[in-house]
Amino acid sequence: MQIYGFCPVGYEGILVAIEIEVRKGIPGIDLVGLPDSSVREARERVRAAIRNSGFSIPRGRILINLRPAGIRKVGASYDMALAVAILCISNQITLDSHKKYLILGELSLSGEVCEVKGLPGALDMAAKHKIDACIGPADQLGGYAPDAGLRVHGLRRLTDLLEPLPSLKSAEGEAGLSSDALGIVEEIGSFSNLSRFSRYAGTVALAGRHHVNLLGPPGSGKTSLLEYLQSFSLPLRPDYEGEVQRISGLVGDFEGVEKHRKARVRTPHHTTSFEGMFGGGRILRPGEVSLAHCGMLILDELSAFQAKILSGLRLPMEQSWISVGRADMSTSFPCDFMLVAAMNLCPCGGLGSDGYCLCDPRQLSRYWTKIGAALMDRFDIRIFTNQDTQDVDLPGWVDHADELSMVLVEAENRQFDRRNATGSRYNGRISGLILRDMYPDLWSNKSSYSARDRAALIRIAVTLADLDGRDSPNDGDLSMAGCLRFPALGPFDIFGMIGK
Ligand SMILES: [Zn+2]
Repeated sequence: MQIYGFCPVGYEGILVAIEIEVRKGIPGIDLVGLPDSSVREARERVRAAIRNSGFSIPRGRILINLRPAGIRKVGASYDMALAVAILCISNQITLDSHKKYLILGELSLSGEVCEVKGLPGALDMAAKHKIDACIGPADQLGGYAPDAGLRVHGLRRLTDLLEPLPSLKSAEGEAGLSSDALGIVEEIGSFSNLSRFSRYAGTVALAGRHHVNLLGPPGSGKTSLLEYLQSFSLPLRPDYEGEVQRISGLVGDFEGVEKHRKARVRTPHHTTSFEGMFGGGRILRPGEVSLAHCGMLILDELSAFQAKILSGLRLPMEQSWISVGRADMSTSFPCDFMLVAAMNLCPCGGLGSDGYCLCDPRQLSRYWTKIGAALMDRFDIRIFTNQDTQDVDLPGWVDHADELSMVLVEAENRQFDRRNATGSRYNGRISGLILRDMYPDLWSNKSSYSARDRAALIRIAVTLADLDGRDSPNDGDLSMAGCLRFPALGPFDIFGMIGK
């Protein structure tokens, strides 16, 4: 029999073999193999839990090695594995001697088995390494679908080990999306203060998961539009669910599978640190960009974020993975998020409204230089919330919650079917090179624009065609894409000022 624990470090995590030996000597437990203080404390918890559950600690000196010994072990998830190893070597319980066990769980002093971080990743790792069975906290394990070939046993107390281990059945996931999965939480009527065009632009962004920047003076409806976008509870495809569960499991989100059927919405404050946004730290924790994987990352007051966060956003906005490293280790987290940002047009907020702007040109230039053309470019859709859009024609636009849900699901399904050809899950992530090959006519049509503008226009046009139920975009879609990408900001040429 071999017992393994799990070290939730990075996206993959590491399986840790638990080796145990009892020698003659002063009674005590020695823990080696680079345990950090949270793992060393496990000795006291395990000792108390074993005694309080009616078992005994073997006499003699117990040596426990955590292998591979060169990697620092963190977290409280080893408690159960250590306790089981001690109980097995002293013949107080018996496990099948030919099998490999992954054992997870923190122990309370009274012997209750508590939740651990990184459980979905641990189950994946166990299946990959041909582990026979996983023993862990019953409540937490019940929420996840175990991989085929791995037996999963859920326990509530350490004393449950005396009984035959109860097996948990794997949960069957649904195969696709249905229109009722994508509900609109609030009725559209409650957003009637927003212009039709703003709602339309927001919905297009949502349908293709395009990065979108909401620009406008205070009170022009940016917050309402953010709420409108959040009111769509985007579902999570079962195909992508495993990754999202794995990431949220690493930060101790124990809600289980039910909560994750919906795409995640993250709304970090502008004081968030660089590591908090992109991931990292001692245990290589995922950042906000990864926690919003397959969902929405909302950055209100974009200009207030640190400059290095603003420039750091550029790469993950285009790539689906972000590499995070520390001195001795690196890992990659998925980060296929849709960025929704909102900002004023100037530091005082007056620009773009009927009132006065109190900023001098230097302040204005500093404000927009911080955002920069490179970041602004990566927002496919830019919405000016104070724009007069009465005369913009919106062909085929539905403004009814039920119908809207249907077209959004249809658009999502089309993107899913096309994902092998486009190399992306969502239209908002299709690269310019692929668009050039897929739509050569549209590409050459827009030769006066920069490559990034062309790519963005075609990406939006593809989403517009999806919303209309057509296979390929046409010139009409392209001109509407132009309205969505280049809003009329009135007399102030913001895009000109930052070189866009
Ligand atoms: Zn101003």
